[in-house]
Amino acid sequence: MDPKQFMNLSDIYQQRQTGTKAYEDFDATQLFCPNCKQAVPVRKRLLLVLPEGDKYEYLCAYCAATVGTKIDRDIKPLTIIA
Ligand SMILES: [Zn+2]
Repeated sequence: MDPKQFMNLSDIYQQRQTGTKAYEDFDATQLFCPNCKQAVPVRKRLLLVLPEGDKYEYLCAYCAATVGTKIDRDIKPLTIIA
């Protein structure tokens, strides 16, 4: 793995962070936590930046157990709706 490429991906991620607030809000959700035995609010944590997308981990807001992971695929549409 080329470390320079990883740096570039991180930079791209940083830039995207500022422009995708609405998308982040859409992601706010509740998941079932096996420890708390109920649907709980979750915290989203970036685990990895992969070529196919950013891998996130969802942590229970109460006990910090991992309740799920997800890959946000970074497939950009060819046409931009302005
Ligand atoms: Zn929990």
